[in-house]
Amino acid sequence: MATVLANTPDQRKESPVPADRTPSAYAAGLPALVARHAEQTPQALAVMDGDTTLTYAQLVASARALAAHLHDHGVRPGDRVALLVPRSARTVVAQLALWWAGAACVPLDPAHPRPRIEAMLATAGATLTVGDTKLLESAALTGATLTLHDDPLLTGAELPAFEPGPDATALVLFTSGSTGLPKGVTVTHGGIAQLVTAPQYATVTARDRVLFHSPTTFDASTFEMWSALANGAAVVVCTAERPSFEDLARQVERHGVTVAFFTTALFHQLAARRSRVFSVLRTVVVGGEAMAAQHARAVLRAFPWLELVNGYGPTETTTFATAHRVTDADCDGPVPIGRPIAGAVAHVLDGTGQPVAPGEHGELWIGGSRLAGGYAGRPELTAERFVDHGSLGRLYRSGDLVSVRPDGVLDFHGRVDDQVKVRGFRIEPGEVEHILREQAEVDDAAVTVRRPAADDARLAAFVVAAPGPVPRAETLRARLAAQLPAHLVPDELTLVERLPLTVSGKVDRRALTAFHGTATAEDATEVLTPLQQAVAEVWSRSLGCEVNRPDADFLAYGGHSLLALVVTDDLREELGVELSLPDFFAAPTVAGQAALVERALLANHSDLHLDAPEDTDGH
Ligand code: ADP
Repeated sequence: MATVLANTPDQRKESPVPADRTPSAYAAGLPALVARHAEQTPQALAVMDGDTTLTYAQLVASARALAAHLHDHGVRPGDRVALLVPRSARTVVAQLALWWAGAACVPLDPAHPRPRIEAMLATAGATLTVGDTKLLESAALTGATLTLHDDPLLTGAELPAFEPGPDATALVLFTSGSTGLPKGVTVTHGGIAQLVTAPQYATVTARDRVLFHSPTTFDASTFEMWSALANGAAVVVCTAERPSFEDLARQVERHGVTVAFFTTALFHQLAARRSRVFSVLRTVVVGGEAMAAQHARAVLRAFPWLELVNGYGPTETTTFATAHRVTDADCDGPVPIGRPIAGAVAHVLDGTGQPVAPGEHGELWIGGSRLAGGYAGRPELTAERFVDHGSLGRLYRSGDLVSVRPDGVLDFHGRVDDQVKVRGFRIEPGEVEHILREQAEVDDAAVTVRRPAADDARLAAFVVAAPGPVPRAETLRARLAAQLPAHLVPDELTLVERLPLTVSGKVDRRALTAFHGTATAEDATEVLTPLQQAVAEVWSRSLGCEVNRPDADFLAYGGHSLLALVVTDDLREELGVELSLPDFFAAPTVAGQAALVERALLANHSDLHLDAPEDTDGH
């Protein structure tokens, strides 16, 4: 029996088909939905970005004016145009404008190295990159570019709107590819519209404010921007490029954010700290990795009003394919990933594509109207992952192991392949191994994930040196960082004599993690100052190893972006100073950070001194 699951309770038991919403709800397409809200509630708040606000009328007028400008510069329906802007109100205006000009948007991350960006542009077939003056200058791209105005609010002649059909590509979103090249998933207009229009897995109404803090290259940003704008709600842009826990909490509080998405790794950290974001938010959607029951339970007990949703889905199925409203009762075992949401159908099949019995483990194959078109420029790969299953139609092979409960709810059990998740990023170890093997000093390499603690995952590379000079870990990491986005650069690099093999001759990734090489506490050569000692203690706690040298480097000790958030938050709580993430990474040693802390303490002190009101308390 094929396990075909429907998404609404009344149809769940008997219906063999998904409960797709009637096309009228989303067939209008995203841009048309936003335009409709602009007609009905022109003065309603659409986007808030620091001190800049755009009403629906202003958003639509600006996007239409920019669409005309893009058209004047040769953008035509069917084009693919890359977008290089910092996360801002302009991101929203520009995406809408590109769609009204008929183009698909290829979001770029300014933090990615240039070779990566160039490879993405070539794979996506982008004919133009539009963006911010400074970012375009520093990216120094080889192809055509067009500078956008700094002000998101634009006026001018408007283009007769091109309304993209549901199958037209809206976004090309890149994800790690096992052969060393990133894959560009072509996400459709219909796929996003159906994901966000009056969603049943999470409450989003016209009165809501949805936080936009994910990178636009990440599929969660589709939920963050468009679940708000498709439902007449407002998008609150998180202005800090790399927000700290405190930045997030302040944004949520200051702007009364009611709905937010967090990657599972971030959710776990916020949950462990009982972050005050949960006291303001009504709906929290979490996704990317398996949700830990103890964190879900802690949050639900501390903030019982919260609507907590576990969203599951590969980018290829448009952000979420299944979702589960998490209750305390779900937290006795692994938290389920729920049932398919509108536009998705789930089949649990064995390796030959045959259905498995309920309760048995099988691979999740996903069908429905929200499947992506495929991978840009990679027809063979598209055919391999998006298969025509005959009677079940076109299906995406997720590579995820699941089982189905008697009530139709799905449980997640891991992967059938080597793909891993680190801090919400999907990583094909093969992609990193490929680049490592290209280095002259490297004979062979294997990459896997090491979990030194329940809430910590590190990308670990094991390298067999080629004959000749032994490569230095820092040199290899630096070379990788010049080619790969930060999340694909291993957190740990260990030299090994040879890679352990399984009986079938494959690299034994499990055995690998057993002989990882963490930075061991070396004998301190210099005595730490009291402030350095305080910083070293905070580091030791989050890194899980003793740090006792002033020149200890955060990255060399296995530190990474999520741990940096933890450390900056601990420093704020314990020493009363706030370090931004860019400052943190600009001074990544104990001594460097102690100096920053000292400077911040002195600045606080002089502020107090200067601002101290005279005798206000009557003493
Ligand atoms: P996302 O942005 O939703 O994480 P990706 O395409 O980057 O999408 O990664 C998809 C993969 O992440 C899935 O195939 C699955 O392995 C994992 N994943 C996503 N959400 C969950 C979840 N809620 N529980 C368990 N695994 C998840």
